[in-house]
Amino acid sequence: TQPKNRELLADLNQAQRDAVTHVGGQLLVVAGAGSGKTRVLTRRIAYLLAERKVHPGQVMAITFTNKAAAEMRERVVELVGRRANAMWVSTFHAMCVRILRREAKVLADVLAGSSGVTSNFSIYDADDSRRLINLVARDLDIDPKRYPPRGLAAQISNWKNELMTPLDAKAAAASDAERKAADVYPEYQRRLEQANAFDFDDLIMRTVELLRASPDVSEYYRRRFRHVLVDEYQDTNHAQYVLVRELSGTERTESGTEPAELCVVGDADQSIYAFRGATIRNIEEFERDYPRAHTILLEQNYRSTQTILSAANAVIARNSGRRDKRLWTDSGEGEAIVGYVADNEHDEAAFVAGEIDALVDDAAAGFKYSDVAVFYRTNNQSRVFEEIFIRLGLPYRVVGGVRFYERREVRDALAYLRVLANPQDTVSLRRILNVPKRGIGDRAEAAVASYAERERISFSDALRVAATSGSEVGLAARSANAIARFVELMNELGKLVEADEPPADILEAVLERTGYRAQLDESDDPQDATRLENLTELVTVAREFGEMPEAFQTEADAVAAAEDAEAAGVDEPEQATLAAFLERVALVADTDSIPDADGDAEDDADDSDDDAGVVTLMTVHTAKGLEYPVVFGTGWEEGVFPHQRTFGKDDELAEERRLAYVAITRARRRFYVSRALVRSAWGQPMYNPASRFLDEIPAELVEWRREEPTNGATSGGLPRAATTWGRGGGFGNDSAQARLAAGGMRSTSFSGWKDDWKKTAALELAVGDRVNHDKYGLGTVVSTDGSGPRATATIDFGTSGTVKLMLMGSVPMVKL
Ligand code: ATP
Ligand code: MG
Repeated sequence: TQPKNRELLADLNQAQRDAVTHVGGQLLVVAGAGSGKTRVLTRRIAYLLAERKVHPGQVMAITFTNKAAAEMRERVVELVGRRANAMWVSTFHAMCVRILRREAKVLADVLAGSSGVTSNFSIYDADDSRRLINLVARDLDIDPKRYPPRGLAAQISNWKNELMTPLDAKAAAASDAERKAADVYPEYQRRLEQANAFDFDDLIMRTVELLRASPDVSEYYRRRFRHVLVDEYQDTNHAQYVLVRELSGTERTESGTEPAELCVVGDADQSIYAFRGATIRNIEEFERDYPRAHTILLEQNYRSTQTILSAANAVIARNSGRRDKRLWTDSGEGEAIVGYVADNEHDEAAFVAGEIDALVDDAAAGFKYSDVAVFYRTNNQSRVFEEIFIRLGLPYRVVGGVRFYERREVRDALAYLRVLANPQDTVSLRRILNVPKRGIGDRAEAAVASYAERERISFSDALRVAATSGSEVGLAARSANAIARFVELMNELGKLVEADEPPADILEAVLERTGYRAQLDESDDPQDATRLENLTELVTVAREFGEMPEAFQTEADAVAAAEDAEAAGVDEPEQATLAAFLERVALVADTDSIPDADGDAEDDADDSDDDAGVVTLMTVHTAKGLEYPVVFGTGWEEGVFPHQRTFGKDDELAEERRLAYVAITRARRRFYVSRALVRSAWGQPMYNPASRFLDEIPAELVEWRREEPTNGATSGGLPRAATTWGRGGGFGNDSAQARLAAGGMRSTSFSGWKDDWKKTAALELAVGDRVNHDKYGLGTVVSTDGSGPRATATIDFGTSGTVKLMLMGSVPMVKL
């Protein structure tokens, strides 16, 4: 059906309409949650195509996740038809990969440190990059205990997000740890180049460098993309900010190209990625950086009930230094927020499951499973929900938490493919060198690595030398033979790639000929059966990928887009090559994207009308930008949410509070909030007081289904009826808390409240104190927090890990 342009504006308010139809220059839309920012962005694109006759090839839209990109594309196609497929709608990372592949030749010419780059480069994810940093740090004799690779990697990532080169980093490094990271940085970059690989941060940084170094390339993209649109602008980091500026331009170029129309939308209160270098500054200073920019505020919320909105507003109001926003809704009061204090995490999960069941059963309420989302602060909290959902037969999926692409066997299989696509990919090559075991031991690997260093050649090339002349590399004949067989195997497999066989066939061949599948087949370990299933799943993903180019729903769409692209003189739609498959996988597996629970890269199909869909489980971070009729906010406890790591750090606590704001504002009609009195962490019971965010929700908005008991005499189960003390979530009753804190038992049953606690005084500890714990052994106090019943200490128990413990109660620990 051909859309009527009028309809594009019909269901928008005046401010939204202004944003959609605004012509020229830069446009900033700042507004609270649920005010229609994403809707404005989508409509604006549709309006550009339908009304202002902009060619789809001139539009670049940037979203925060692959899923959001797919949805936006789908919406625009619905509004203006399939020719919209020629737009670029993607994440920053995907967009940069596309540019870098296209410009690999130029890149190799104009950028120092990129001479080894070809268009089949590998994309290193966080794990790959940590492995490489580990190798570099080892070669530089950096003590991994004092300077863990994770920390070095984080520091280098921060520098890249600030567009700081190794030289900049060296000059800026202020602490010992930073100086070590600055030593690693240039060598790490050299090895990346040698491996023909980019890490995620490089994708952005190198694209910026490319645009700056090559006026031709820069001019090409400026001329091409006349419209640049960015959603979730508050979560862009400095590098991304500069990238947007380079792409859209601020001044007319020498050859007369005007800056693109730039439209960014965001909400400073929803900035939740500062830990990855995101900076609200980008919003706050947009007007300064673009003096002619036009700003539009949206104030009406269309998503939530007044109750939900009031709760969210009250929580975020506690953050200082923010612009106060007047967000209102005319959708009515709605239902009260439901609160629940659980005995433990299992009880909490049982409550959530029971409530979901009741909601879906209630025909009058009209909720489906797919209307419900359960949020938690960290991924590991999903397990308890999964267990009970499975037991009760409640359909669910975990978003982002399953980490299909992080499983060992999946990574191994992909590493083979990556080496086949890019033989210089050292990290992948070393990963599979002796997997499955083929007699190439650590010593042989080390000999090849040091030969490569000595001769300044790549590991891959050194391996080839070893295969033909083991003695040259200093290898025993047996190792050299094993390496020769491996090189031969990879050569054979490489022929399949040269012949452009479908990725799925190449993958099958890898699993067969390397003996990887046989080894799992023969194993008695039940885990290996799961591994086989996962590999089968990976083959399926590859198979499906091969069948249809990305982003096209039907053959006709693909053809139409190809014609469109041709007419506009833009890129061909992507081919289903091995490189394209690997790129797709790398981007789907990106931590800021949302792969489906079962790990396949297909779009959700759970919203179809004829099925009730599934409940979604996810972290609050992944929920950004989404909305659900019913939301369960779980684990609202001090130490969990806000996360313990943020205690005592004002800026990080402010970020946690924004996260709470994001959580509440995802809900359309119902919001539940729960916490557990006891939660096991590291196999130990933790007694966490109510989250401060819970206290910040006005009491009159919450209806407590179950509160914290006031009376210590209960045994065999907390009273189900609510006993009131203050506001249920509050922290007004020290004796109750003391009783809770005095546990020491691990209760896993839903009513598992035992009365074997004993009341003891809190252990007094200070930073630096040495302790001996019955289970963890000797440790040193690294930090303390809270006082009285809230007192906790974080203690480093060496190889047993770092553990946070409540100090009140029968802690099996003595101060030394
Ligand atoms: P967030 O900050 O969470 O990303 P947002 O500002 O992007 O939120 P949207 O997701 O675009 O908000 O919109 C929130 C909801 O309100 C959506 O369901 C959207 O369809 C609806 N909506 C937005 N504007 C209107 C309108 N003018 N009339 C009716 N519904 C609207
Ligand atoms: Mg949005």
